[in-house]
Amino acid sequence: MALSDLNPVERNEEGIAAVLGILKQQLGERFQTGQAIRSQHAHTTTYIPTQAPDGVAFPETTAEVQEIVRACAAHRVPVIAFGVGSSLEGHTNAPGGGISVDTSRMNRILAVNPQDLDCTVEPGVTREDLNRHLRDTGLFFPIDPGANASLGGMAATRASGTNAVRYGTMRENVLSLTAVMADGETVTTGKRAKKSSAGYDLTRLLVGSEGTLGIITSLTLKLQGIPQAISGGVCPFPSVEAACNAVIATIQMGIPVARIELVNALQMRAMKNYSKLDYPESPCLFVEFHGSDAGVAEQAETFGMIAEENGGGPFLWTSVAEERTKLWKARHDAYWSSLTLRPGAKGLSTDVSVPISRFAECVMETEADIAEMGLIAPIVGHAGDGNFHVLVLMDVNDPEEIALSEKFVARLNMRAIAMDGTCTGEHGIGQGKIGFLRHELGHGVDIMRTIKQALDPLDIMNPGKILPGN
Ligand SMILES: Cc1cc2nc3c(=O)[nH]c(=O)nc-3n(C[C@H](O)[C@H](O)[C@H](O)COP(=O)(O)OP(=O)(O)OC[C@H]3O[C@@H](n4cnc5c(N)ncnc54)[C@H](O)[C@@H]3O)c2cc1C
Repeated sequence: MALSDLNPVERNEEGIAAVLGILKQQLGERFQTGQAIRSQHAHTTTYIPTQAPDGVAFPETTAEVQEIVRACAAHRVPVIAFGVGSSLEGHTNAPGGGISVDTSRMNRILAVNPQDLDCTVEPGVTREDLNRHLRDTGLFFPIDPGANASLGGMAATRASGTNAVRYGTMRENVLSLTAVMADGETVTTGKRAKKSSAGYDLTRLLVGSEGTLGIITSLTLKLQGIPQAISGGVCPFPSVEAACNAVIATIQMGIPVARIELVNALQMRAMKNYSKLDYPESPCLFVEFHGSDAGVAEQAETFGMIAEENGGGPFLWTSVAEERTKLWKARHDAYWSSLTLRPGAKGLSTDVSVPISRFAECVMETEADIAEMGLIAPIVGHAGDGNFHVLVLMDVNDPEEIALSEKFVARLNMRAIAMDGTCTGEHGIGQGKIGFLRHELGHGVDIMRTIKQALDPLDIMNPGKILPGN
């Protein structure tokens, strides 16, 4: 599928002009229409072209979000929610123009309930802000995409990260949320109870909806106790297959690993140079264990034995916080280190996920495809979830390279789907993966469209995303 196949969204010039006037009057300086700020609020993270909105609003309250949505609904103008813009599939683009609703000023932590292990935040709070705020409570919020994303954006993309193998994704960690829907009304999808059988699960309908159903204005999140002990380290393997088999054995044995990340040899080369790591340039697993002192030592030893049985090692692990932090900083900087493999190139970051039993096969076939197609494309993976990322480095001014990269991504997505997996484990559909949704979900796409039409009949909430055109 080529980007030219993406859903076009017709511009409503008259409506846009009317809304620009209304919002300027309502929000004053908190409504901006300068070229630079509009471009910054479209897609900027990959080669997908930037499609800027016509104006950027900075609301501070749910009531202001309601006013913005009502103005847009009255004039049939697109509304695109914006967190920090770190999404990777064109999610924040405005193909038919419209208003970007930047939630960065809605950044209050509304409540922390240590006894209940939950908190309520506004959508513009970032994951790092929240964890800084929680530091003295002995609690933390575990979901950690590589970017310091907003919690609203993370819920909207159903994000995860390195800790998901132990703590789940945003799907498992949002207890309830409040959102402004397309008609300007608010909905609160639940209370703070840990579980509920009360009707349709509106929380999970909105989690992962990428701003196409409503704008999240607050979220109640589950928190975790900071573990008594944390140990972790890096283990090299002779091949990607050996590393993947060690992951499969670790998961299948039920070791409660908190993080288990695959880094292939090319990515390891980038990380060694960029993050000054002293490990061999071979496939490696970055691993972390949470628990009691005795528990983490036992888990590390068992993992070391599994690694050895699969030809890996030595597994050097540590409980020293500074050493662990350096390793995970390097892992979180993988995207930036990859870019140094081809200076001047831009990255196309894509992700797929397969059942863990097919993980080794999927990664190996993908590495073979990268070699056959002559691409420079390192791999990192949230291996415990069967989820991996490929960053294709390309010259965005060369249409042939773009076409080749898109062909590679299409083959990767179809490979994952054929293995009973998904074309995206955590980045979402946005614009970039629209063409693969029907291959994965078939008639499910029609049900999604019915829901979208019922809740947003004017198609103003982030139009042109997720659902394929008719
Ligand atoms: C270096 C790097 C590493 C990354 N690693 C990971 C990773 O490991 N795991 C992972 O899951 N992702 C990863 N990502 C992708 C990205 O960080 C996530 O998709 C993140 O959840 C996006 O949050 P954001 O605040 O940037 O949202 P944005 O990009 O601003 O928005 C994303 C989508 O959510 C919608 N949205 C934003 N706020 C709201 C709201 N309040 N209400 C309704 N809809 C809203 C937008 O309309 C858009 O469709 C990575 C990105 C980068 C650049």
